[in-house]
Amino acid sequence: MEATHVVLATGADAIKLLPTLPIRKRKGHLAITDRLPRPLIRHQLIETGYLQSAHGSDHASVAFNLQPRSAGQLLIGSSRQFESSGEVELPIVKRMLEQAVSYVPALRDFLVTRIWTGFRAATPDGLPLIGPCPNVPGLILATGHEGLGITTSLATAKLVRQHVTGAKAEIDPTPYLPDHFSPAT
Ligand SMILES: Cc1cc2nc3c(=O)[nH]c(=O)nc-3n(C[C@H](O)[C@H](O)[C@H](O)COP(=O)(O)OP(=O)(O)OC[C@H]3O[C@@H](n4cnc5c(N)ncnc54)[C@H](O)[C@@H]3O)c2cc1C
Repeated sequence: MEATHVVLATGADAIKLLPTLPIRKRKGHLAITDRLPRPLIRHQLIETGYLQSAHGSDHASVAFNLQPRSAGQLLIGSSRQFESSGEVELPIVKRMLEQAVSYVPALRDFLVTRIWTGFRAATPDGLPLIGPCPNVPGLILATGHEGLGITTSLATAKLVRQHVTGAKAEIDPTPYLPDHFSPAT
């Protein structure tokens, strides 16, 4: 297939296709409870240390993050680790759940029905890589969103559209341009 533009938006797996990208896979655990008979919370709760965990050191960390789901479950997060397999690791899950219970003691009474992991695409400066890939004409990068890729997805789409169509800039693309890391081919 031929195309004038190709968008590389494969999350943390972008390094499989372009290994020189400055992206590290940062594992996270999440847990979900059984459906609650009545809502415990109506909105997301997050500890202020969450940002420290998100942008902090290479060490494994946990930060309290609780989100009600529309079906009545509670989503409990989350952890951050570099250099780890995709396996669920019970010691860090225990730390994550203890942290959650320390903020919301009522959680102790709920049944966790599933625990899983995912990988965030972490960049050295914490900013995503959105825009033309240096040295690869026609390739637009849209990756490196770490733990904010869902929240920022609409803005990412607008930036990608700006780069592909040359449309008037709604968002300043400069901070996210990949060329400040100069990934080689
Ligand atoms: C534990 C955890 C908690 C998180 N919590 C939040 C949160 O509360 N809020 C938030 O905004 N973000 C959160 N995130 C981050 C968010 O999930 C990511 O930033 C976001 O999913 C990135 O979106 P993406 O489309 O770039 O990549 P992805 O969602 O990873 O999608 C990439 C897609 O590309 C596919 N793919 C990979 N390789 C290929 C290939 N070679 N060919 C074709 N397809 C391919 C994959 O199968 C996948 O479907 C969390 C992440 C984790 C791990």
